[in-house]
Amino acid sequence: MPAEPVPAIEIVRTRAELQPAIARHLAAKRGPGTPALGLVPTMGALHAGHRALAEAAAAENDVVVASVFVNPLQFGDATDLERYPRTLDADAALLAEAGVDLVFAPDVEEMYPGGEPEVRVVAGPLAQKWEGASRPGHFDGVCTVVSKLLHLAMPGGFDGARAAYRAYFGQKDAQQVAVVRRMVRDLDFPVEVVAVPIVRDADGLALSSRNRFLSEEERDAALVLSRALKLLEDRASAHEPLNPDDAEALVRSQPLVELDYLDVVDPNTLEPLAFACRETPFTGEALAIVAAAVGPVRLIDNMPLRAR
Ligand code: AMP
Repeated sequence: MPAEPVPAIEIVRTRAELQPAIARHLAAKRGPGTPALGLVPTMGALHAGHRALAEAAAAENDVVVASVFVNPLQFGDATDLERYPRTLDADAALLAEAGVDLVFAPDVEEMYPGGEPEVRVVAGPLAQKWEGASRPGHFDGVCTVVSKLLHLAMPGGFDGARAAYRAYFGQKDAQQVAVVRRMVRDLDFPVEVVAVPIVRDADGLALSSRNRFLSEEERDAALVLSRALKLLEDRASAHEPLNPDDAEALVRSQPLVELDYLDVVDPNTLEPLAFACRETPFTGEALAIVAAAVGPVRLIDNMPLRAR
């Protein structure tokens, strides 16, 4: 059978072009009733994890906008920012295939005219722990750019009703999802935040744009992270005590992996659930989280835990 033709995708580079383009796509695509717009914020170097976000957005909305912007505000380390892969042509092709209509790909000067913004979003206590503790200011940078993107892509009104508005984030960055949900609630953004499950390689490694910097040996070593989480997931499903020290010991047994944290937390507050983990059989729901340095990169992963 001949392959389905991939629909053309429109790329806009300026803030001024974005709103007219969104209005045009909504007018062209809308069915009966109030139309819906999905926004998928990314930093590019896209892989199947991002594709899952775009496909979820395409399945649930009339029009999908993806942004591709490497946001300097959320990088603490200048080298990490500099070497972050930039692959816009390949990204646009992947997004077109996934059903995205419009790509917003501004450069830094377009996004932050005249330099970095003076007024920023302070992400608060939820952003101080875990990733925030290792990357000070990271979530302020994330919230500042996400709030700008949410404003810039916000759909207009239709027939007296507000168009539905959804924004898609990967569960891979579980703390980011929690912090963005909190920002949307605290600052009354008229948007629904949708979290999409983690996409993994067949051997369990969570997909990440930074995996390309791992040597073969480092990539093999990194598998210990998802294995440690899986150990906890299996114990949770079996209603057994989790004993996270065993998972931690597993990670520490791998010399190429330098563990930062591994813990079992409440999925919303991200507070540790120590009492539920040792000796007592696991009940309810939790999130196992891990972060580690492997060779040149910092990797994070997580798994929802559920007693069955
Ligand atoms: P990034 O380009 O790394 O900022 O990621 C853009 C979005 O894709 C974020 O919401 C990430 O959480 C999400 N994402 C990245 N990797 C994955 C993955 N393996 N599975 C699901 N979502 C992902």
